[in-house]
Amino acid sequence: MIDVLVIGGGNAALCAALMAREAGASVLLLEAAPREWRGGNSGHTRNLRCMHDAPQDVLVDAYTEEEYWQDLLKVTGGLTDEHLARLTIRASSTCRDWMRKHGVHFQPPLSGALHVARTNAFFMGGGKALVNAFYRSAEQLGVQIRYNSPVDRLDLVDGEFKAAYVGDERIEARACVLAAGGFESNLDWMREAWGQNERGEWPADNFLIRGTRYNQGVLLKHMMAQGADMIGDPSQSHCVAIDARAPLYDGGICTRIDCVSLGVVVNRDAERFYDEGEDFWPKRYAIWGRLVAQQPGQIAYSIIDAKAVGRFMPPVFPGVKANSLPELARAIGLDETTFMQTLNDYNAACKVGTFDHTALDDCHTEGVQPAKTHWALPIDTGPFYAYAVRPGITFTYLGLKVNDQAAVHFGGQASDNLFVAGEMMAGNVLGKGYTAGVGMSIGTAFGRIAGTQAAKAAKAAVTVKEARRAVA
Ligand SMILES: Cc1cc2nc3c(=O)[nH]c(=O)nc-3n(C[C@H](O)[C@H](O)[C@H](O)COP(=O)(O)OP(=O)(O)OC[C@H]3O[C@@H](n4cnc5c(N)ncnc54)[C@H](O)[C@@H]3O)c2cc1C
Repeated sequence: MIDVLVIGGGNAALCAALMAREAGASVLLLEAAPREWRGGNSGHTRNLRCMHDAPQDVLVDAYTEEEYWQDLLKVTGGLTDEHLARLTIRASSTCRDWMRKHGVHFQPPLSGALHVARTNAFFMGGGKALVNAFYRSAEQLGVQIRYNSPVDRLDLVDGEFKAAYVGDERIEARACVLAAGGFESNLDWMREAWGQNERGEWPADNFLIRGTRYNQGVLLKHMMAQGADMIGDPSQSHCVAIDARAPLYDGGICTRIDCVSLGVVVNRDAERFYDEGEDFWPKRYAIWGRLVAQQPGQIAYSIIDAKAVGRFMPPVFPGVKANSLPELARAIGLDETTFMQTLNDYNAACKVGTFDHTALDDCHTEGVQPAKTHWALPIDTGPFYAYAVRPGITFTYLGLKVNDQAAVHFGGQASDNLFVAGEMMAGNVLGKGYTAGVGMSIGTAFGRIAGTQAAKAAKAAVTVKEARRAVA
């Protein structure tokens, strides 16, 4: 019998598989996707948020535990478990050497990655290179890997893992790590979670999924039905405003639109609806998907002028361009009169101080609702650009409740041999909101813990069996 079964094929699963193997366990990893699509959402990532008390290799200055924690506290509005969050934060300061050992390389951020040189370590070659390096290392260490192997259900007895099923095939193991992602790719479940709004719309019908199509939440649903303790709200997710032209799945980071804080955003009725300059973009980009989801038709338009060009990472696909604002309104099909009213009101309200996009500067509006609290410059210099945006779901936050050993719980009782990592438990740390790079911090920290604990549980199971045999 295999010691540790790892279900999933992204960063969290690979971290667990590698740690379990390093601890001497035999490991089988089951990935739902075919080999070409292996790696889940992890393949789309770019970086990891890391605590450090002094400059470290690719990271400048310091980013202390307390500052990281305060950032997390702010974005989650307190919907986080401080003990598990601090554990994640501390683990982020020590994981990079271990990742390097398994072939992951880091690089300083390229220009255009706003304000993250201090807080985030970037993977050389992106998440795809990270995932490939981990698979290569896992294969070299003797981890067995099977693709096209979606697990449907588990055999559990009183919270103890016995076996997993891929269709009719039963696969037994002494311990198991669940790392099969969230349920963001399951459009029916997303529809059910978001429900119908006061306008009679089903908002999720207009969502785009930024990552893999394989995170269908089959095991999350199964674990709920088995009575596992859950955490988080199914309608909460990492949700970004992305290019409305993105494909339904796997558009990845090239669909990001990063100019929100440099201009204004209007909805289908040509009205502004939120403070575009509330905070630095890496701390705010993940709330904009939800804000757009609440707008009529789940669509909005990020409007900038020529002054903004060169101050943000340009989107891969060009926006709609016009030489005047009325022309821009007509080109994107918005009511010209309302659009001009909105833009004129905003422009008149701008109190321009010293513009500085690298600081929470003093350029703000007065006398307009909603206010724009930083980086408020009049939109008055052609050419003008518009980018249509829709909610882009990155990953969901509903997950399995864990303790600091990554154990799955049933009725408050920790399972002895079933563990969970990554998106399947991220809700313990992220009740809502997001700060860039924390997804990989959670998956890496808990993947490594889950792998270690699963190897330990497998060893304990062997010891108990041997002791019983000796007594008999
Ligand atoms: C476009 C994009 C960019 C991102 N950028 C960043 C970033 O720069 N930094 C950051 O921290 N986070 C980022 N994230 C979030 C990050 O991807 C996740 O937090 C992290 O990858 C989660 O890792 P995971 O292993 O839990 O899930 P995943 O990497 O999604 O892996 C889940 C795996 O489970 C498999 N699976 C699903 N169901 C089953 C089943 N039933 N049986 C077997 N296997 C199954 C899937 O095929 C997949 O391989 C980004 C996400 C996206 C989509």
